[in-house]
Amino acid sequence: MNINTEGVKSFIPTATIEALIESQKNAPESRIREIIAKSLDKNRLEPEETAALLSVTDLELKQLILEGAHELKERIYGNRIVLFAPLYVGNECVNDCVYCGFRISNKECLRATLSHEQLVRETQSLVERGHKRLIMVYGEHPKYSPEFIAETVQTVYATKYKKGEIRRVNINAAPVDIEGFRTVKSVGIGTYQIFQETYHEETYRKLHPSGPKSNFLWRLDGLDRAMKAGIDDLGIGALMGLYNWKFEVLGLLYHTIHLEDTFGVGPHTISFPRIEPANGTEFTEKPPHQVSDEDFKHLVAVIRLSVPYTGMILTAREPIALRNEVLRYGISQIDAGSSIGVGDYSAKDEESRKKSQFVLGDTRSLDDVIYELAQGGYIPSFCTSCYRAGRTGEHFMEFAIPGFVKRFCTPNALLTFSEYLHDFSSERTLKAGLQLIDNELAKIEDETMRASVTAKLEEMKQGKRDLYF
Ligand code: SAM
Ligand code: SF4
Repeated sequence: MNINTEGVKSFIPTATIEALIESQKNAPESRIREIIAKSLDKNRLEPEETAALLSVTDLELKQLILEGAHELKERIYGNRIVLFAPLYVGNECVNDCVYCGFRISNKECLRATLSHEQLVRETQSLVERGHKRLIMVYGEHPKYSPEFIAETVQTVYATKYKKGEIRRVNINAAPVDIEGFRTVKSVGIGTYQIFQETYHEETYRKLHPSGPKSNFLWRLDGLDRAMKAGIDDLGIGALMGLYNWKFEVLGLLYHTIHLEDTFGVGPHTISFPRIEPANGTEFTEKPPHQVSDEDFKHLVAVIRLSVPYTGMILTAREPIALRNEVLRYGISQIDAGSSIGVGDYSAKDEESRKKSQFVLGDTRSLDDVIYELAQGGYIPSFCTSCYRAGRTGEHFMEFAIPGFVKRFCTPNALLTFSEYLHDFSSERTLKAGLQLIDNELAKIEDETMRASVTAKLEEMKQGKRDLYF
Protein backbone atom coordinates (compact mmCIF):
# COMPACT_ATOMS: atom_id res chain seq x y z
CA MET A 1 0.00 0.00 0.00
CA ASN A 2 1.30 3.38 -0.98
CA ILE A 3 0.83 5.95 1.79
CA ASN A 4 0.43 9.14 -0.16
CA THR A 5 -0.92 12.31 1.41
CA GLU A 6 0.02 14.66 -1.38
CA GLY A 7 -2.66 17.29 -1.77
CA VAL A 8 -4.40 16.27 1.47
CA LYS A 9 -5.12 19.22 3.74
CA SER A 10 -6.24 19.09 7.33
CA PHE A 11 -9.80 20.26 7.88
CA ILE A 12 -9.15 20.66 11.62
CA PRO A 13 -8.66 24.37 12.40
CA THR A 14 -6.64 23.91 15.59
CA ALA A 15 -6.29 27.57 16.56
CA THR A 16 -9.97 28.28 15.85
CA ILE A 17 -11.04 25.38 18.04
CA GLU A 18 -8.83 26.53 20.93
CA ALA A 19 -10.21 30.06 20.52
CA LEU A 20 -13.83 28.87 20.41
CA ILE A 21 -13.45 26.96 23.67
CA GLU A 22 -12.28 30.21 25.31
CA SER A 23 -14.60 32.69 23.58
CA GLN A 24 -17.82 30.72 24.09
CA LYS A 25 -17.45 30.47 27.86
CA ASN A 26 -20.23 31.77 30.10
CA ALA A 27 -23.01 31.80 27.54
CA PRO A 28 -26.23 32.99 29.23
CA GLU A 29 -29.08 30.57 29.88
CA SER A 30 -31.13 32.09 27.05
CA ARG A 31 -28.42 31.19 24.51
CA ILE A 32 -28.04 27.64 25.85
CA ARG A 33 -31.82 27.20 25.60
CA GLU A 34 -31.80 28.53 22.04
CA ILE A 35 -29.05 26.10 21.03
CA ILE A 36 -30.86 23.14 22.58
CA ALA A 37 -34.08 24.18 20.81
CA LYS A 38 -32.24 24.32 17.47
CA SER A 39 -31.02 20.79 18.02
CA LEU A 40 -34.48 19.57 19.06
CA ASP A 41 -35.66 21.01 15.76
CA LYS A 42 -33.37 18.43 14.15
CA ASN A 43 -30.58 20.78 13.09
CA ARG A 44 -26.91 19.96 13.30
CA LEU A 45 -25.13 22.54 15.44
CA GLU A 46 -22.35 24.88 14.33
CA PRO A 47 -18.96 24.76 16.08
CA GLU A 48 -19.54 27.95 18.08
CA GLU A 49 -22.84 26.52 19.38
CA THR A 50 -21.23 23.23 20.36
CA ALA A 51 -18.39 25.16 22.01
CA ALA A 52 -20.94 27.12 24.04
CA LEU A 53 -22.52 23.87 25.28
CA LEU A 54 -19.11 22.37 26.03
CA SER A 55 -18.01 25.38 28.03
CA VAL A 56 -20.95 25.38 30.43
CA THR A 57 -19.90 24.92 34.05
CA ASP A 58 -23.06 26.03 35.86
CA LEU A 59 -24.71 22.91 37.30
CA GLU A 60 -28.25 23.94 36.38
CA LEU A 61 -27.27 24.67 32.81
CA LYS A 62 -25.44 21.36 32.61
CA GLN A 63 -28.63 19.67 33.76
CA LEU A 64 -30.53 21.50 31.04
CA ILE A 65 -28.14 20.08 28.45
CA LEU A 66 -28.56 16.54 29.80
CA GLU A 67 -32.33 16.91 29.71
CA GLY A 68 -32.19 18.32 26.18
CA ALA A 69 -30.16 15.32 24.99
CA HIS A 70 -32.60 12.95 26.71
CA GLU A 71 -35.57 14.64 25.09
CA LEU A 72 -33.95 14.47 21.65
CA LYS A 73 -33.26 10.77 22.03
CA GLU A 74 -36.78 10.01 23.23
CA ARG A 75 -38.48 12.16 20.61
CA ILE A 76 -36.53 10.97 17.60
CA TYR A 77 -35.28 7.50 18.35
CA GLY A 78 -37.49 6.11 21.14
CA ASN A 79 -36.29 3.50 23.58
CA ARG A 80 -34.42 0.98 21.43
CA ILE A 81 -30.80 0.01 22.08
CA VAL A 82 -28.99 -1.91 19.35
CA LEU A 83 -26.65 -4.65 20.61
CA PHE A 84 -23.42 -5.90 19.08
CA ALA A 85 -20.20 -7.67 20.04
CA PRO A 86 -16.58 -6.99 19.11
CA LEU A 87 -14.68 -9.84 17.47
CA TYR A 88 -10.90 -9.43 17.66
CA VAL A 89 -9.31 -11.16 14.69
CA GLY A 90 -5.64 -10.38 15.26
CA ASN A 91 -3.46 -8.30 17.55
CA GLU A 92 -0.26 -8.10 15.52
CA CYS A 93 0.57 -4.46 15.00
CA VAL A 94 3.31 -2.41 13.39
CA ASN A 95 2.28 0.83 15.09
CA ASP A 96 3.36 2.08 18.47
CA CYS A 97 0.33 3.96 19.82
CA VAL A 98 1.45 4.63 23.39
CA TYR A 99 -1.96 3.84 24.93
CA CYS A 100 -2.61 0.48 23.29
CA GLY A 101 -1.77 -2.99 24.58
CA PHE A 102 -1.20 -4.17 20.99
CA ARG A 103 1.53 -1.63 20.18
CA ILE A 104 4.66 -3.08 18.62
CA SER A 105 6.93 -2.22 21.55
CA ASN A 106 4.74 -4.00 24.13
CA LYS A 107 6.74 -7.12 24.94
CA GLU A 108 4.03 -8.33 27.32
CA CYS A 109 1.49 -8.72 24.53
CA LEU A 110 1.02 -12.29 23.40
CA ARG A 111 0.54 -12.05 19.63
CA ALA A 112 -2.22 -14.03 18.00
CA THR A 113 -4.20 -14.12 14.76
CA LEU A 114 -7.26 -16.34 14.44
CA SER A 115 -6.88 -19.20 12.00
CA HIS A 116 -9.83 -19.93 9.72
CA GLU A 117 -10.99 -22.68 12.11
CA GLN A 118 -10.62 -20.45 15.16
CA LEU A 119 -12.57 -17.68 13.46
CA VAL A 120 -15.38 -20.11 12.71
CA ARG A 121 -15.38 -21.25 16.34
CA GLU A 122 -15.41 -17.66 17.64
CA THR A 123 -18.33 -16.87 15.34
CA GLN A 124 -20.19 -19.98 16.49
CA SER A 125 -19.71 -18.97 20.12
CA LEU A 126 -21.16 -15.54 19.42
CA VAL A 127 -24.07 -16.93 17.40
CA GLU A 128 -24.77 -19.42 20.16
CA ARG A 129 -25.20 -16.59 22.64
CA GLY A 130 -27.68 -14.81 20.39
CA HIS A 131 -25.54 -12.18 18.69
CA LYS A 132 -26.47 -10.98 15.20
CA ARG A 133 -24.22 -7.95 14.77
CA LEU A 134 -20.44 -7.84 15.10
CA ILE A 135 -17.65 -5.38 14.82
CA MET A 136 -14.50 -7.12 13.65
CA VAL A 137 -11.29 -5.58 15.00
CA TYR A 138 -7.75 -5.86 13.60
CA GLY A 139 -4.32 -4.51 14.52
CA GLU A 140 -2.43 -2.86 11.68
CA HIS A 141 -0.09 -5.34 10.05
CA PRO A 142 0.79 -6.44 6.51
CA LYS A 143 -0.94 -9.75 7.38
CA TYR A 144 -4.23 -7.92 7.75
CA SER A 145 -4.47 -6.78 4.15
CA PRO A 146 -7.81 -5.72 2.65
CA GLU A 147 -7.98 -9.19 1.05
CA PHE A 148 -7.47 -10.82 4.46
CA ILE A 149 -10.11 -8.59 6.04
CA ALA A 150 -12.54 -9.40 3.22
CA GLU A 151 -11.88 -13.12 3.57
CA THR A 152 -12.44 -13.08 7.34
CA VAL A 153 -15.70 -11.16 6.90
CA GLN A 154 -16.87 -13.75 4.36
CA THR A 155 -16.03 -16.53 6.79
CA VAL A 156 -18.17 -14.93 9.47
CA TYR A 157 -21.15 -14.41 7.14
CA ALA A 158 -20.87 -18.01 5.92
CA THR A 159 -20.95 -19.50 9.42
CA LYS A 160 -24.48 -20.76 10.07
CA TYR A 161 -24.71 -22.42 13.44
CA LYS A 162 -27.50 -24.06 15.41
CA LYS A 163 -30.14 -21.36 15.72
CA GLY A 164 -28.65 -18.49 13.85
CA GLU A 165 -26.02 -16.55 12.02
CA ILE A 166 -24.30 -13.17 12.05
CA ARG A 167 -26.29 -10.78 9.88
CA ARG A 168 -24.19 -7.65 9.92
CA VAL A 169 -20.44 -7.18 10.21
CA ASN A 170 -18.94 -3.76 10.90
CA ILE A 171 -15.20 -3.16 10.73
CA ASN A 172 -12.70 -1.38 12.98
CA ALA A 173 -9.37 -1.49 11.21
CA ALA A 174 -6.62 0.74 9.95
CA PRO A 175 -7.40 3.05 7.04
CA VAL A 176 -6.28 1.65 3.69
CA ASP A 177 -6.05 3.07 0.17
CA ILE A 178 -9.09 3.48 -2.10
CA GLU A 179 -8.49 0.16 -3.85
CA GLY A 180 -8.24 -1.54 -0.44
CA PHE A 181 -11.51 0.00 0.73
CA ARG A 182 -13.16 -1.27 -2.47
CA THR A 183 -12.00 -4.79 -1.67
CA VAL A 184 -13.44 -4.61 1.85
CA LYS A 185 -16.70 -3.07 0.63
CA SER A 186 -17.19 -5.85 -1.91
CA VAL A 187 -18.00 -8.45 0.77
CA GLY A 188 -20.95 -6.50 2.16
CA ILE A 189 -19.72 -4.82 5.30
CA GLY A 190 -21.88 -2.51 7.39
CA THR A 191 -20.00 0.40 8.96
CA TYR A 192 -16.25 1.03 8.53
CA GLN A 193 -15.04 2.63 11.72
CA ILE A 194 -11.78 4.55 12.10
CA PHE A 195 -11.03 6.63 15.19
CA GLN A 196 -8.81 9.65 14.78
CA GLU A 197 -7.81 9.09 18.46
CA THR A 198 -6.94 12.79 18.88
CA TYR A 199 -7.73 15.62 16.51
CA HIS A 200 -4.93 17.67 18.06
CA GLU A 201 -2.14 17.20 15.54
CA GLU A 202 0.80 17.95 17.82
CA THR A 203 -0.46 15.53 20.47
CA TYR A 204 -1.21 12.97 17.76
CA ARG A 205 2.40 13.09 16.57
CA LYS A 206 3.74 12.52 20.08
CA LEU A 207 1.47 9.60 20.86
CA HIS A 208 1.94 7.80 17.53
CA PRO A 209 5.70 7.80 17.19
CA SER A 210 6.14 5.22 14.43
CA GLY A 211 4.44 3.05 11.83
CA PRO A 212 1.89 4.10 9.19
CA LYS A 213 -0.41 5.46 11.87
CA SER A 214 2.17 8.15 12.74
CA ASN A 215 0.97 10.00 9.63
CA PHE A 216 -1.81 12.27 10.94
CA LEU A 217 -3.07 13.27 7.49
CA TRP A 218 -3.21 9.69 6.17
CA ARG A 219 -5.50 8.82 9.05
CA LEU A 220 -7.56 12.01 8.86
CA ASP A 221 -8.11 11.43 5.14
CA GLY A 222 -8.97 7.74 5.71
CA LEU A 223 -12.73 8.12 5.66
CA ASP A 224 -12.56 10.37 2.60
CA ARG A 225 -10.85 7.51 0.78
CA ALA A 226 -13.48 5.10 2.08
CA MET A 227 -16.20 7.39 0.67
CA LYS A 228 -14.39 7.57 -2.66
CA ALA A 229 -14.39 3.77 -2.68
CA GLY A 230 -18.17 3.81 -2.24
CA ILE A 231 -18.40 3.07 1.48
CA ASP A 232 -20.80 5.70 2.76
CA ASP A 233 -21.53 4.05 6.08
CA LEU A 234 -18.73 5.39 8.24
CA GLY A 235 -17.93 5.67 11.93
CA ILE A 236 -15.73 8.36 13.41
CA GLY A 237 -14.34 8.51 16.93
CA ALA A 238 -11.89 10.07 19.36
CA LEU A 239 -10.14 8.34 22.23
CA MET A 240 -10.91 10.45 25.27
CA GLY A 241 -8.00 11.12 27.60
CA LEU A 242 -5.26 11.97 25.11
CA TYR A 243 -6.04 15.68 24.89
CA ASN A 244 -8.67 18.19 26.13
CA TRP A 245 -12.04 16.44 25.63
CA LYS A 246 -13.69 19.70 24.56
CA PHE A 247 -11.20 19.97 21.71
CA GLU A 248 -11.92 16.36 20.70
CA VAL A 249 -15.69 16.92 20.61
CA LEU A 250 -15.15 19.91 18.34
CA GLY A 251 -12.74 17.82 16.26
CA LEU A 252 -15.49 15.23 15.82
CA LEU A 253 -17.87 18.00 14.80
CA TYR A 254 -15.43 19.44 12.23
CA HIS A 255 -14.92 15.94 10.83
CA THR A 256 -18.70 15.58 10.57
CA ILE A 257 -19.04 18.91 8.79
CA HIS A 258 -16.18 18.02 6.44
CA LEU A 259 -17.88 14.75 5.43
CA GLU A 260 -21.24 16.51 4.99
CA ASP A 261 -19.68 19.28 2.87
CA THR A 262 -17.55 16.97 0.75
CA PHE A 263 -19.80 13.96 0.24
CA GLY A 264 -23.26 15.10 1.35
CA VAL A 265 -23.35 12.43 4.09
CA GLY A 266 -22.21 12.75 7.68
CA PRO A 267 -20.95 9.92 9.88
CA HIS A 268 -23.25 6.99 10.53
CA THR A 269 -21.87 6.69 14.06
CA ILE A 270 -19.71 8.60 16.50
CA SER A 271 -17.65 6.85 19.21
CA PHE A 272 -15.99 8.48 22.20
CA PRO A 273 -14.24 5.73 24.17
CA ARG A 274 -12.24 6.64 27.27
CA ILE A 275 -8.79 5.14 27.75
CA GLU A 276 -8.82 1.97 29.83
CA PRO A 277 -5.89 0.27 31.57
CA ALA A 278 -3.97 -2.00 29.21
CA ASN A 279 -1.56 -4.81 30.01
CA GLY A 280 2.08 -3.64 29.93
CA THR A 281 1.01 -0.10 29.10
CA GLU A 282 2.09 2.47 31.69
CA PHE A 283 0.55 5.39 29.78
CA THR A 284 -2.93 4.08 30.59
CA GLU A 285 -2.37 4.20 34.35
CA LYS A 286 -2.64 7.96 34.33
CA PRO A 287 -3.74 9.38 30.97
CA PRO A 288 -2.74 13.03 30.63
CA HIS A 289 -6.29 14.31 30.09
CA GLN A 290 -8.36 11.76 31.95
CA VAL A 291 -12.09 12.45 31.57
CA SER A 292 -14.17 12.32 34.77
CA ASP A 293 -17.58 10.62 34.85
CA GLU A 294 -19.24 14.04 35.13
CA ASP A 295 -17.43 15.35 32.07
CA PHE A 296 -18.15 12.12 30.21
CA LYS A 297 -21.91 12.52 30.72
CA HIS A 298 -21.65 16.12 29.58
CA LEU A 299 -19.73 15.21 26.43
CA VAL A 300 -22.19 12.45 25.54
CA ALA A 301 -25.08 14.90 25.83
CA VAL A 302 -23.25 17.58 23.81
CA ILE A 303 -22.44 15.14 20.99
CA ARG A 304 -26.10 14.01 20.94
CA LEU A 305 -27.29 17.58 20.58
CA SER A 306 -24.56 18.61 18.14
CA VAL A 307 -25.17 15.89 15.53
CA PRO A 308 -28.80 14.86 16.07
CA TYR A 309 -28.83 12.48 13.09
CA THR A 310 -25.89 10.26 14.02
CA GLY A 311 -25.78 6.94 15.87
CA MET A 312 -23.83 7.01 19.13
CA ILE A 313 -21.85 4.02 20.35
CA LEU A 314 -21.02 3.30 23.98
CA THR A 315 -18.71 0.37 24.65
CA ALA A 316 -18.16 -2.00 27.54
CA ARG A 317 -14.99 -0.06 28.34
CA GLU A 318 -17.25 1.96 30.66
CA PRO A 319 -18.43 0.73 34.08
CA ILE A 320 -22.00 -0.58 34.43
CA ALA A 321 -23.55 2.24 36.48
CA LEU A 322 -22.27 4.95 34.16
CA ARG A 323 -23.31 2.96 31.12
CA ASN A 324 -26.83 2.67 32.43
CA GLU A 325 -26.96 6.37 33.12
CA VAL A 326 -25.65 7.68 29.81
CA LEU A 327 -28.04 5.46 27.85
CA ARG A 328 -30.55 8.20 28.66
CA TYR A 329 -28.55 10.87 26.90
CA GLY A 330 -28.66 9.57 23.39
CA ILE A 331 -26.75 6.31 23.06
CA SER A 332 -28.09 4.14 20.24
CA GLN A 333 -25.74 1.12 20.29
CA ILE A 334 -23.85 -0.78 22.98
CA ASP A 335 -21.77 -3.93 22.94
CA ALA A 336 -22.65 -6.68 25.38
CA GLY A 337 -21.08 -9.88 26.62
CA SER A 338 -17.84 -8.66 25.06
CA SER A 339 -14.43 -10.28 25.14
CA ILE A 340 -11.53 -8.37 23.70
CA GLY A 341 -8.80 -11.01 23.74
CA VAL A 342 -8.07 -12.74 20.43
CA GLY A 343 -9.87 -16.12 20.58
CA ASP A 344 -11.56 -15.47 23.94
CA TYR A 345 -15.16 -16.32 23.07
CA SER A 346 -14.47 -19.94 22.29
CA ALA A 347 -11.26 -20.62 24.23
CA LYS A 348 -10.60 -18.27 27.13
CA ASP A 349 -7.44 -19.26 29.01
CA GLU A 350 -4.90 -18.05 31.54
CA GLU A 351 -3.12 -16.08 28.87
CA SER A 352 -6.19 -14.15 27.69
CA ARG A 353 -5.22 -10.96 29.50
CA LYS A 354 -1.99 -10.84 27.52
CA LYS A 355 -3.89 -11.11 24.25
CA SER A 356 -6.30 -8.30 25.15
CA GLN A 357 -6.10 -4.72 24.04
CA PHE A 358 -7.25 -3.26 27.36
CA VAL A 359 -9.44 -4.13 30.37
CA LEU A 360 -13.25 -3.92 30.20
CA GLY A 361 -15.39 -2.03 32.72
CA ASP A 362 -18.56 -4.02 32.02
CA THR A 363 -18.17 -7.80 31.93
CA ARG A 364 -21.82 -8.82 32.18
CA SER A 365 -23.08 -11.54 29.88
CA LEU A 366 -25.28 -10.64 26.90
CA ASP A 367 -28.27 -12.14 28.70
CA ASP A 368 -27.66 -10.09 31.84
CA VAL A 369 -27.35 -6.89 29.84
CA ILE A 370 -30.57 -7.70 27.99
CA TYR A 371 -32.37 -8.45 31.23
CA GLU A 372 -31.32 -5.11 32.70
CA LEU A 373 -32.23 -3.22 29.54
CA ALA A 374 -35.68 -4.78 29.55
CA GLN A 375 -36.13 -3.99 33.24
CA GLY A 376 -35.14 -0.40 32.49
CA GLY A 377 -37.79 -0.11 29.75
CA TYR A 378 -35.36 -0.28 26.79
CA ILE A 379 -36.04 -2.58 23.84
CA PRO A 380 -32.87 -4.56 23.06
CA SER A 381 -32.60 -4.73 19.27
CA PHE A 382 -30.61 -6.96 16.93
CA CYS A 383 -32.18 -5.40 13.89
CA THR A 384 -30.23 -5.56 10.62
CA SER A 385 -33.18 -5.10 8.30
CA CYS A 386 -32.30 -1.80 6.60
CA TYR A 387 -28.86 -3.02 5.71
CA ARG A 388 -30.25 -6.27 4.32
CA ALA A 389 -33.21 -4.66 2.56
CA GLY A 390 -30.82 -2.25 0.85
CA ARG A 391 -32.03 0.75 2.84
CA THR A 392 -28.59 2.24 3.47
CA GLY A 393 -27.95 5.09 5.86
CA GLU A 394 -30.62 3.73 8.14
CA HIS A 395 -29.64 5.85 11.08
CA PHE A 396 -30.13 8.92 8.97
CA MET A 397 -33.53 7.67 7.77
CA GLU A 398 -34.65 7.11 11.34
CA PHE A 399 -33.88 10.75 11.87
CA ALA A 400 -35.04 12.27 8.64
CA ILE A 401 -38.14 10.37 7.55
CA PRO A 402 -41.23 11.10 9.61
CA GLY A 403 -42.76 7.90 10.99
CA PHE A 404 -39.77 5.74 10.01
CA VAL A 405 -39.00 4.67 13.58
CA LYS A 406 -42.63 3.68 14.16
CA ARG A 407 -42.92 1.88 10.83
CA PHE A 408 -39.64 0.01 10.82
CA CYS A 409 -37.33 0.43 13.81
CA THR A 410 -39.60 -0.31 16.74
CA PRO A 411 -41.39 -3.26 15.06
CA ASN A 412 -38.06 -4.74 13.95
CA ALA A 413 -36.56 -4.24 17.39
CA LEU A 414 -39.52 -6.15 18.88
CA LEU A 415 -39.21 -8.95 16.32
CA THR A 416 -35.46 -9.45 16.77
CA PHE A 417 -35.85 -9.21 20.53
CA SER A 418 -38.54 -11.89 20.52
CA GLU A 419 -36.27 -14.06 18.34
CA TYR A 420 -33.60 -13.73 21.05
CA LEU A 421 -36.10 -14.56 23.77
CA HIS A 422 -37.33 -17.71 22.02
CA ASP A 423 -33.91 -19.05 21.15
CA PHE A 424 -31.33 -17.86 23.62
CA SER A 425 -32.63 -16.24 26.78
CA SER A 426 -32.62 -17.34 30.41
CA GLU A 427 -35.93 -17.82 32.23
CA ARG A 428 -35.81 -14.47 33.99
CA THR A 429 -34.97 -12.58 30.80
CA LEU A 430 -37.76 -14.38 28.96
CA LYS A 431 -40.27 -13.29 31.55
CA ALA A 432 -39.07 -9.68 31.67
CA GLY A 433 -38.82 -9.59 27.87
CA LEU A 434 -42.31 -10.89 27.12
CA GLN A 435 -43.72 -8.33 29.52
CA LEU A 436 -41.77 -5.56 27.76
CA ILE A 437 -43.03 -6.70 24.35
CA ASP A 438 -46.63 -6.61 25.61
CA ASN A 439 -46.14 -3.10 26.95
CA GLU A 440 -44.57 -1.92 23.71
CA LEU A 441 -47.30 -3.48 21.57
CA ALA A 442 -49.90 -1.62 23.58
CA LYS A 443 -48.07 1.63 22.79
CA ILE A 444 -48.37 1.18 18.98
CA GLU A 445 -51.14 3.60 18.05
CA ASP A 446 -51.73 2.53 14.47
CA GLU A 447 -54.06 -0.48 14.66
CA THR A 448 -53.01 -1.99 11.34
CA MET A 449 -49.38 -1.77 12.34
CA ARG A 450 -50.09 -3.28 15.75
CA ALA A 451 -51.99 -6.16 14.12
CA SER A 452 -49.23 -6.86 11.68
CA VAL A 453 -46.50 -6.82 14.37
CA THR A 454 -48.65 -9.10 16.52
CA ALA A 455 -49.09 -11.49 13.59
CA LYS A 456 -45.36 -11.64 12.93
CA LEU A 457 -44.64 -12.19 16.64
CA GLU A 458 -47.10 -15.09 16.53
CA GLU A 459 -45.28 -16.56 13.51
CA MET A 460 -42.06 -16.31 15.54
CA LYS A 461 -43.71 -18.24 18.34
CA GLN A 462 -44.60 -20.93 15.79
CA GLY A 463 -40.94 -21.24 14.82
CA LYS A 464 -40.47 -18.79 11.92
CA ARG A 465 -37.28 -16.74 12.11
CA ASP A 466 -35.65 -13.67 10.63
CA LEU A 467 -38.89 -11.79 10.01
CA TYR A 468 -38.71 -8.05 9.50
CA PHE A 469 -40.39 -5.04 7.97
N1 SAM B 1 -5.67 -0.99 14.75
C1 SAM B 1 -6.74 -0.22 14.22
C2 SAM B 1 -6.63 1.23 14.59
O1 SAM B 1 -5.82 1.58 15.42
O2 SAM B 1 -7.43 1.97 14.03
C3 SAM B 1 -8.11 -0.69 14.65
C4 SAM B 1 -8.31 -1.40 15.90
S1 SAM B 1 -7.84 -0.59 17.40
C5 SAM B 1 -7.61 -2.11 18.14
C6 SAM B 1 -9.42 0.08 17.91
C7 SAM B 1 -9.43 1.27 18.83
O3 SAM B 1 -9.13 0.89 20.16
C8 SAM B 1 -8.42 2.35 18.56
O4 SAM B 1 -8.83 3.16 17.51
C9 SAM B 1 -8.35 3.07 19.90
O5 SAM B 1 -9.19 4.20 19.92
C10 SAM B 1 -8.89 2.07 20.90
N2 SAM B 1 -7.95 1.83 22.00
C11 SAM B 1 -6.63 1.55 21.92
N3 SAM B 1 -6.10 1.43 23.15
C12 SAM B 1 -7.09 1.65 24.04
C13 SAM B 1 -7.15 1.68 25.48
N4 SAM B 1 -6.10 1.48 26.23
N5 SAM B 1 -8.37 1.94 26.04
C14 SAM B 1 -9.44 2.16 25.29
N6 SAM B 1 -9.45 2.14 23.94
C15 SAM B 1 -8.28 1.89 23.31
FE1 SF4 C 1 -2.12 -0.99 16.65
FE2 SF4 C 1 -4.58 0.05 16.57
FE3 SF4 C 1 -3.41 -0.54 18.90
FE4 SF4 C 1 -2.49 1.47 17.51
S1 SF4 C 1 -4.57 1.31 18.41
S2 SF4 C 1 -1.22 -0.12 18.47
S3 SF4 C 1 -2.79 0.75 15.44
S4 SF4 C 1 -4.03 -1.96 17.33
